Amino acid sequence: LLAATALHKSFGSNEVLRGIDLTLHRGEVVVLIGPSGSGKTTVLRSLNGLETPDSGVIAVDGGPEIDFAAKVAQKQRFALRDSSAMVFQHHNLFPHLTVLENVIEGPWRVQRRPKDEVVAEALVLLERVGLADKADARPHQLSGGQQQRVGIVRALALKPDLLLFDEPTSALDPELVGEVLLVIKELADEGWSMVVVTHELSFAREAADHVLFMDGGVVVEEGAPEQIFEAPREERTQRFLKRIL
Ligand code: ATP
Repeated sequence: LLAATALHKSFGSNEVLRGIDLTLHRGEVVVLIGPSGSGKTTVLRSLNGLETPDSGVIAVDGGPEIDFAAKVAQKQRFALRDSSAMVFQHHNLFPHLTVLENVIEGPWRVQRRPKDEVVAEALVLLERVGLADKADARPHQLSGGQQQRVGIVRALALKPDLLLFDEPTSALDPELVGEVLLVIKELADEGWSMVVVTHELSFAREAADHVLFMDGGVVVEEGAPEQIFEAPREERTQRFLKRIL
């Protein structure tokens, strides 16, 4: 579904990505773990066309192969936004719109699909995450966990090929983390393709097909979750896991 090769990115003299390769097959869940500042968010933003790598190639099934060393990449990267939808750490809901209006904004106004169709789909999605009765509420009337579930529904409503999650639970109170991870786990079980940046290692162990451990802008180690969590080969991975568990 997606292949990123040799992504490099610097912010000034700070070389944040030093050659990242990432492959995702349809229906697969890839989880990125690693210390703060290792470049995980920058990878996700690159996959979504929000960030332009200095060099490297991203190819998505059915889209162009984007070579970031070439000038045209600046324009081509917008194609990436059509194939993926991102769920952010902070849900970024519009405060003045209702839950339903937030969900339909993208498919209706941006994708220009018929409003009645989009509303019907949005209500089904809200029902799925247990929020049908909140359709007319404003974001501030919801708990953080509910808001983040709306954030997920908003991404789903775009019908993307690929879901990108950037630390979707790290801004939540601990007791609200579980309900959001449960929704993500259910989507994974349903066969959604996703890349998830998270510090929730038990979630990673359960949901991931493939885990990448990043540090200092490189993938230090990658493999099946059992291998990474139970038998990490690299010393840096071992140290990170020891610290976080
Ligand atoms: P965290 O877990 O803290 O979110 P991360 O692994 O996701 O960390 P990134 O957010 O990708 O790491 O950031 C990697 C480095 O790039 C950091 O040093 C950060 O300060 C820097 N950085 C990210 N975005 C920008 C930007 N727009 N301008 C300048 N520096 C940036």
